[in-house]
Amino acid sequence: MIKHLDPDVVGQIAAGEVIERPANLLKELLENSLDAKASQIEVRVSEGGCSISIKDNGAGIPADQLELAVLRHTTSKIRQTEDLWNLSTYGFRGEALASAAAVSQLRLLSRTQDQEYGQELCLDFGKKLSCNAKAAEVGTWLQIDGLFDNLPARKKFLRSSSTEIAQMKLVCKAIALSHPQVEFRFYDKNELKFYFAAVENQKLRAEQILEIPNLISASTKYLWGSIEVYFSNPDHRERNSKNIWIFAQDRWIQDRALQTAFLESQRNFMMHGQYPAGVILVQINPQDIDVNIHPTKSQVKFKDPQILFQSIYHTTRNALEKHLQGNSVAAVPVPEFRGQRSDFREQSSAQAAGRGPQIAGSGDSQQSLNFPELQRTQYQQKNFDPPQSIPENRPDNAFDNNTHENKSEDLQAFKFWSDLQIIGQADLTYLVCQSKDGLIMVDQHAAHERIVFEKLMKAFAQGQVPIQDFLFPLALDMASEKLEALFSIEQSLLQIGIRIEALGPQTLGILSGPTWISDRAYGPCLMKSADEIIDRGGSFQMEKYIADLCASMACHSVVRAGQALSLEEMKNLLKEMDDFPESKYCPHGRPVSFKQSWYEIEKSFGRRG
Ligand code: ADP
Ligand code: MG
Repeated sequence: MIKHLDPDVVGQIAAGEVIERPANLLKELLENSLDAKASQIEVRVSEGGCSISIKDNGAGIPADQLELAVLRHTTSKIRQTEDLWNLSTYGFRGEALASAAAVSQLRLLSRTQDQEYGQELCLDFGKKLSCNAKAAEVGTWLQIDGLFDNLPARKKFLRSSSTEIAQMKLVCKAIALSHPQVEFRFYDKNELKFYFAAVENQKLRAEQILEIPNLISASTKYLWGSIEVYFSNPDHRERNSKNIWIFAQDRWIQDRALQTAFLESQRNFMMHGQYPAGVILVQINPQDIDVNIHPTKSQVKFKDPQILFQSIYHTTRNALEKHLQGNSVAAVPVPEFRGQRSDFREQSSAQAAGRGPQIAGSGDSQQSLNFPELQRTQYQQKNFDPPQSIPENRPDNAFDNNTHENKSEDLQAFKFWSDLQIIGQADLTYLVCQSKDGLIMVDQHAAHERIVFEKLMKAFAQGQVPIQDFLFPLALDMASEKLEALFSIEQSLLQIGIRIEALGPQTLGILSGPTWISDRAYGPCLMKSADEIIDRGGSFQMEKYIADLCASMACHSVVRAGQALSLEEMKNLLKEMDDFPESKYCPHGRPVSFKQSWYEIEKSFGRRG
């Protein structure tokens, strides 16, 4: 017999869909507080997330609407379906409070600005217990207990208490990340787990939450929207991709394609298995994005994923390159100390004539490398930050990349690597150098490899590699969908010398390509590109192939470890490192240099506490 379901049961089924886990519910509640324009939010969780208290100082719910707010499909936020495409609030379905009310003991206390008292509503798994006036501050305080106690089957599906709470912390951090002006407190069993004070801008908030100072920042505006990124410099590495946060219209989303674009932009700065940390915020014109495709809104659909993919890659990559440029010519302010001014460059050019033991022979015994006669005091600057951690000479305002460029030009006079004083070559592998900050060792092979790699990559990017026209075009058979995908990147292929043409509805012809790329490489590489463009909206297969090719060419053509270098050769190597700011890392992401500050050295000798 067919019967109408009891409304309570309908409520519970629907609640199960909206709030799958405590973290989903917390997200909804936090969004309600933000929609109410709260500037302070306090979250307390316990019982594996089944008890949640959330207090905000937002607009509050008028006393006469409290009972309405917990009914299904009641919302103060939209009136018609068109509004769905132009959302300025998070909530729009009026389901969160009703769902929470159906599956928990809920207490809602709220007061608006123009009420003298607050109003408190108590419900027990959807049944009203009481609704009375009560003293309260302006804002809303929602207390949930015994979540899912009336749905034992659902409760069984919850994971361990620590997993659920960890997920709730992530949700709270994500919300905090995209709302720098709001203060957040998060307590787990009455213990304050984190506190984020309100800050002025997005960058500071990202630094607060990622717990990484001096993030690199960049932003680009487009006709279709804008991109902002804040990410760690390549010295910072994470063991997984968990610290990469992506937001679309200030909503935290999971998007593999955009994450890939971000990771790709760091290629050749990270070793396999290492990841950067970063926050990527995209704002897209409302007509170009659909946020309502997923029940928890954690996935969105972009109208043109390919453009977004490329834009994230380039915005990040450019910022990274500029950052490295800025750093290698870091404006190391020559510090004043003990009444003496260190003039490092003078010292360095005067060194060649010094006396001292020869460290490394170069085969040419005339060319001896000597310990310069050091005036130790000149290098005694203590605790002086290494150049890479000196506040970058970039504007705080991420929207102004140009200023940065000008600045680094002014600083061209400071050449970090060529200004190092070479002490000698150790173990026929490392250049041993000193600066006023400390001892610096440079891995000659890794450094040279990077330089050659950058030269090759530059040649590719500028179309300066030898190109061959094929007498007969190389033909590749593929589904027409793939063919079409490849034509969407026709221009970027052309830039690296690969000219394509359709030889038939399902046949791609390659008319020309760099001589360095073997004929056999095109097939697998382009097929993989096509697949990725189709699945993810973009691909870097060809670029990846070229980078690998350059890396292996570089690796085989450079000075090896164990090869003696003359002073002149060492100087040239350092000079070239200045020309290629990326040379702090070898193409496989390994660091090229190692530094021990005078401070650390003195500590090791027990000269400092
Ligand atoms: P939605 O957010 O989709 O509108 P909810 O069920 O989450 O639906 O909330 C229902 C209504 O309750 C909201 O439209 C809002 O008017 C009110 N509300 C909920 N939480 C708060 C809060 N923290 N501060 C002020 N009003 C709130
Ligand atoms: Mg809501």
